[in-house]
Amino acid sequence: MSDTEWPAKGARLVVAVDGPAGAGKGAVCRSAAQRFGLTYLETGALYRAVGLIGLRDGLTDETELGRVAGTMPFGFRALGDGRYGAFLGEEEVTLALRAEEVGQAASKVAAMPGVRAALLSFQRRYGGAHDAILDGRDVGSVVWPDADLKIFLTASLEERARRRAVELQERGEAVNLTELIARMAERDARDAGRAHAPMAAAPGAILVDTSTLTLEESCQAVWRLIAPLLEGHART
Ligand code: C5P
Repeated sequence: MSDTEWPAKGARLVVAVDGPAGAGKGAVCRSAAQRFGLTYLETGALYRAVGLIGLRDGLTDETELGRVAGTMPFGFRALGDGRYGAFLGEEEVTLALRAEEVGQAASKVAAMPGVRAALLSFQRRYGGAHDAILDGRDVGSVVWPDADLKIFLTASLEERARRRAVELQERGEAVNLTELIARMAERDARDAGRAHAPMAAAPGAILVDTSTLTLEESCQAVWRLIAPLLEGHART
């Protein structure tokens, strides 16, 4: 999956949205992608895919996990109903990637420089020359430091855990909010405290705190930031 190609940004418009789990990045970016015709990449899915393979194959070694990141047959495919699914080869892993333990595993492999390096070129090449929006932890700081707009989308730990609880309940999974808060705090600490590409607001990033916003309001706050960029921009 990795190669040494490092394409220049060129005329394409790139929006980088970083922030902690549960801040609403996915839903907000999907809505912005739809509204403005941008290609969307949820970069966390790549780390989750490496975490999933690591869990299944019992891998913990950085060299092995780096090799997995560089060779896994990961991709997104249209499901035919307007939605896209995440695939490892022929297996659809969209739901498997969302599991709580896969998020934890992702955050562990994401601290490994070899894994991060192997995933960089996929993120940078994604969408070709098309205008794009990407969400993650280090999109504005490492993947696209030259992004046209950088947003750090966040919310209080309690509110993020509450949202994740609703999501899990809707999927029929048992939820213990206290445990969820503890696990989320642990993942935040690991993501923000790691030595390589820690989660942080990139220089020049605009902070959007969604703690007291509805999803609709969060989307609108981000749309308002993107809309002016598109005025007079030749679409790619
Ligand atoms: O965004 P999501 O919760 O799916 O990401 C799962 C994990 O992948 C995060 O906790 C983080 O450790 C890692 N990640 C990362 N850099 C990104 C995206 C995700 O380190 N750009």
